[in-house]
Amino acid sequence: MMQRALFRRIAQVAQQTAALDGSVVARSAPLVQRQERPMSSVTIPPPACMLRPLEAPLRYLFGPGPSNVPPRILAAGGRPIIGHLHPEMYEIMNDIKKGIQYAFQTENNMTIAMSGSGHAAMECAVFNTVEPGENVVIAINGIWGERVAEIAERMGANVHRMVKSPGGYFSNKEIEQVIEKHKPVLFFLTHGESSAGLCHPVDGIGDICRKHDCLFLVDTVASLGAAPIFMDQQNIDILYTGSQKALNAPPGTAPISFNERACQKMFNRKNKPVSYLFDMTHLSNYWGCDEKPARVYHHTGPVSGFFALRESLAILAERGLEASWKKHKEVAAYLYRGLEDLGLKLFIPDRDLRLPSVTTIAIPEGYDWRELLMYIMKNHQIEMTGGLGPSIGMVMRIGLMGYNCEKHNADMALHALADALKNCKKSKA
Ligand code: PMP
Repeated sequence: MMQRALFRRIAQVAQQTAALDGSVVARSAPLVQRQERPMSSVTIPPPACMLRPLEAPLRYLFGPGPSNVPPRILAAGGRPIIGHLHPEMYEIMNDIKKGIQYAFQTENNMTIAMSGSGHAAMECAVFNTVEPGENVVIAINGIWGERVAEIAERMGANVHRMVKSPGGYFSNKEIEQVIEKHKPVLFFLTHGESSAGLCHPVDGIGDICRKHDCLFLVDTVASLGAAPIFMDQQNIDILYTGSQKALNAPPGTAPISFNERACQKMFNRKNKPVSYLFDMTHLSNYWGCDEKPARVYHHTGPVSGFFALRESLAILAERGLEASWKKHKEVAAYLYRGLEDLGLKLFIPDRDLRLPSVTTIAIPEGYDWRELLMYIMKNHQIEMTGGLGPSIGMVMRIGLMGYNCEKHNADMALHALADALKNCKKSKA
């Protein structure tokens, strides 16, 4: 199978990368030999685990992320490091900025990648645009709204929660009513609610926020590249994503963009943001977005992570956003049919609201979802997951994103599920 050959290739690249690293080779010498060391002044000996070679199994990552990283991106991340302040690195960062502008469909100058996972972007967005004591409204229909509400509360904002059960969605009318009532400086919405498998409609909400002088912040960590989003056209003021989902880069970098309205607010604060690392006055300089002639040291960016992110954005640019959205929709539709043929029920009844990258299945009656997932991992080396936060115990999740978004992977997932349903039969009953 083509996919299996590709996975073998990933293993080869991983081995070659390890072989380039002399220390890994040295560590694979017999343990006894390596423990015969002369008397030492240190009182804490090297831990035995550190004298064994690194082991990381090869798995099919069909959960909500991270997704498998294709050889081309692994190879980019494995290239020799250059200095984070070298001119060549600035060029690479400039390319990343352009790649993000394409992926987000924005012309915003203030477009960067965070050194950190999706949470870094969540914190950066809130810390910079909200000041203590200001009102924010957070739409919660799964875990991600809950997280952003907690982040905003920790930095002293007055948080107003709009809550629906996982998979629920908010009408524009409901959103406007709450915004009118609380007059927030920021409204948060998750586009791809990966804990529930919902892709929330976005049209019209940016206009409502503008009308009420409120910034519109959108999380696309699980949806970017899989479902359409148009930052500029949809009047989204702040948008962020993660590297490890449909972009297929390793976890650890997170694209984020701020438009003029967001810049106005965040660069005219009374007080500095609580985080030095995530302060956009420094980050905008590091990324060459502040018009200053020189970029100065702020922190050491994850050079390998940026190489890999650049490659993943290059793949998306080559493929084209529309083709990527179409592919995710088609493979998801194929998966839905297969799941229904197995007698399973999709958690989000309205097909138009389903997130194409992460499909949620209602837990089949009489089964223990943990047992099903463990069976699949043990017997098929496939990761699928249960719910997260409020959706725990409600759903099982299958993610087929980016590189993994192929019909033959859907077939593998369906085959593994069918096998698990047969062999873990009604264990709860
Ligand atoms: N938002 C959404 C929608 C997510 O799916 C995730 C990751 N599962 C995050 C935010 C957080 O990203 P990270 O785990 O990279 O910090």
